[in-house]
Amino acid sequence: MSINRKELFSKSRRIVIKIGSAVLTSSGIGLDQERIGKLAGEISDIIASGREALVVSSGAIAAGFAKLGIEKKPRGMPLPLKQAAAAVGQSSLMWIYEKSFGECGRKVAQVLLTGEDLSNRERFLNARNTLHTLLEYGVVPIINENDTVAVDEIRFGDNDNLSGMVAHLVDADLLVILSDIDGLYSADPRLNPAAKLIPLVEKITPEMEQAAGDALSAVGTGGMRSKIMAARKVGAYGVPMVIIDGKREGVLAELFEGGDVGTLFLPKEHKNRSRKHWIAYTACATGRIVVDDGGRTALVEKNKSLLPGGVVTVEGTFKAGDCVTCFDKAGNSFARGLTNYSATDLERIKGHKTIEIESILGRKDYDEVIHRDDLVIL
Ligand code: GLU
Repeated sequence: MSINRKELFSKSRRIVIKIGSAVLTSSGIGLDQERIGKLAGEISDIIASGREALVVSSGAIAAGFAKLGIEKKPRGMPLPLKQAAAAVGQSSLMWIYEKSFGECGRKVAQVLLTGEDLSNRERFLNARNTLHTLLEYGVVPIINENDTVAVDEIRFGDNDNLSGMVAHLVDADLLVILSDIDGLYSADPRLNPAAKLIPLVEKITPEMEQAAGDALSAVGTGGMRSKIMAARKVGAYGVPMVIIDGKREGVLAELFEGGDVGTLFLPKEHKNRSRKHWIAYTACATGRIVVDDGGRTALVEKNKSLLPGGVVTVEGTFKAGDCVTCFDKAGNSFARGLTNYSATDLERIKGHKTIEIESILGRKDYDEVIHRDDLVIL
């Protein structure tokens, strides 16, 4: 398929730009002020061309190590030390952004988020409103994970994932990943000299994920796999993603002029509605519902809602309004949705007809356990 990059990028108005640690540091320790300055200039030019830009920036931990006199990134470092380094480094990171964007006549804002902030619908909407307001005021949000409080259960884990979530949060038109590698290769180019750059990915295949391996960059916490996962996420929401070499000067301008740089991941044609995307990828599923074969067919093939009659087993503790995952009897997850009934109520009405709900519970709030509009087939 031939794709007119220039046309695609010229239509992109709201851009999320992720800058990885490997781009922001020269040797993995400390920040490369000159490079950040140049990137701020390039991003300012993008804004001057009538676009909005949000930056997702790593580099706090790398900057913190330098300030704390930690020379190498020891593997298996205790989490509190990384968190402390991030706290120390985040202010330096912001100071450099403030200075660099200030020189271009632009203001910046620090926004620190955790995974939990975006899986809770209310906090998701609060974050979204704040970011929209910052953009209205022409401020460049500089977003990072709130490493101080983020432990495993509430983490994004890496900023590739975070940038994908942010692209969704603000309804971005494009996600740009600035990396220390110029795109996705057919194999790991550091290990295989015959590896070729893939300029366009129309569909992410299991082979691609395999080839991306688990290889981590020496500095950041992501790797090619986390980038592919981010592409998959934003792609499901209708947002294209590009990976380009963030160390190459002028690369952003080149990209927006339609130049053949990096790897472009095309999104799925149909945009999932924002809420559905939130259900599929961001909301934290607190319960599991096992559905019988008839119920599964109704959901997957007939586009119907889940009724109590189709529910076989209820697992976990959840309230009405929580996100739950639906499994078939063989244990395969096939859908996620927002339940209208709590685990306790569902336990009582499972397997029963809709008309029986009222006599069992003494009330009937809804006919459906999960309404079609609140359901996403995985
Ligand atoms: N939040 C981390 C930092 O600022 C970066 C995480 C990542 O690189 O993926 O250092």
